[in-house]
Amino acid sequence: MNKELHARAEELIAQERVEGISTADQLWLRQHLADCAGCAARAGATEQAIRSLRGISVSLPKTLANRTHAYAAIAWRAALAHGLRGMWNFLGLWRSYRSLRLACP
Ligand SMILES: [Zn+2]
Repeated sequence: MNKELHARAEELIAQERVEGISTADQLWLRQHLADCAGCAARAGATEQAIRSLRGISVSLPKTLANRTHAYAAIAWRAALAHGLRGMWNFLGLWRSYRSLRLACP
C-alpha cells in the first residue's frame, strides 16, 4: 500500500472525529482500516485518547483554568486545521494540562 493511502486514512480519521466525513469516505476508511493494521491501530489509539479526555474533571484556580482553556482552544483549532498531526499536538497539550491539574491543589 502506498503512503498516500495511509495519509488519506490519517486525515479521514481526524476529520471524522471533528466535522464528520461523507458516506463514501466512511466506506473507504472502514475498508482501509480492515486491510491496514497500522492505520487501524492508530485509529484505535485516537479513539482511546478521546475517551480518556472525556473522563477528565477540571478543578483549577480560575485564572489558571481560563488561561489553560484558552491554550486548549487554540490547540483544538490547530487540530481542526492540521488534521491528525494537530490532534496529536492537542492531546500532548492536554496531557500537560492534566499534569498541571495534578500539581495544583
Ligand atoms: Zn493505512
